[in-house]
Amino acid sequence: MFSAVIQPLIQEVNSTLLSNKNIRVLVQREDLIHPLVSGNKLRKLKYNLLEAQQKGYAKVLTFGGAFSNHVVATAAAAVAMSMESVGLIRGEECLTLNPTLGQAKAFGMSFQYIARETYREKSKIDWCKEFLDCYIIPEGGTNALAVKGCEEIIQNNDFDVVCCACGTGGTIAGIINSLEAHQKAIGFPVLKGGDFLRNDIQQYVKNVNWELCLDFHFGGYAKVNKGLIDFMNDFKKIHGIPLDPVYTGKLFFGVFDLIAKDYFREGTTILLIHTGGLQGIAGMNQRIEKKGWRID
Ligand SMILES: *Cc1c(COP(=O)(O)O)cnc(C)c1O
Repeated sequence: MFSAVIQPLIQEVNSTLLSNKNIRVLVQREDLIHPLVSGNKLRKLKYNLLEAQQKGYAKVLTFGGAFSNHVVATAAAAVAMSMESVGLIRGEECLTLNPTLGQAKAFGMSFQYIARETYREKSKIDWCKEFLDCYIIPEGGTNALAVKGCEEIIQNNDFDVVCCACGTGGTIAGIINSLEAHQKAIGFPVLKGGDFLRNDIQQYVKNVNWELCLDFHFGGYAKVNKGLIDFMNDFKKIHGIPLDPVYTGKLFFGVFDLIAKDYFREGTTILLIHTGGLQGIAGMNQRIEKKGWRID
């Protein structure tokens, strides 16, 4: 599944705001690069799974919450490579699986549930001892091999600024390593207090032409409001591009807000990385239904 070079579609978005401000927005559709493994998670898994295979592992293990894109992606990629997968899931087992875990299970993943307190301390636990036969991929999938995979996201340098949503920061780190000196990367953390990310990203990058914009987390990880949902639904209706509520919705909202506030110089070409995550819409719709909101 990793033999061919992945050539993502790049789509230009047009609107009166953009022509008034003289800004070009290009969307790189990483969400479309594979039918089952979404967006940046495929990039992050590539060299990890190749390494696992090379080392003779038949099983991979990873960590995540019940809505994790990374968990589903690992399950799908593992089965595509004829490997088994195990998910260590934060929290108590639910009798009915949510859409995310249901999908991972359909890809053959087996689960173990860990109490939240243990999960928080998981980096101090030697999981290799307990799961001797598993190649272990960290939560969110970020490690040096994941960053190497994300260095393949940027394939041409026809832009001035590239913007990407950040969880652990692994994806933006790979992107930063692909920049030319005159370009800039801006990361949009989706967690509150994303400032800690600066150090996490720093350890993987050599370039200095990047920054973080901390203003668009919407209250924290997987938190949404009506304004965000309306923006996502309008964006899909007008431009035909679906966004996810946890990452890309916040990124696109933030970038268009900054454009309206003249943050970018006239004549700037912005590349927006659509990192995928659309599997999360179903689970989010279950959670926001009681408020009468819905992602179309
Ligand atoms: C995981 C994820 C991200 C964040 O990637 P990091 O490498 O953890 O920063 C962004 N977008 C989507 C859709 C994701 O699933």
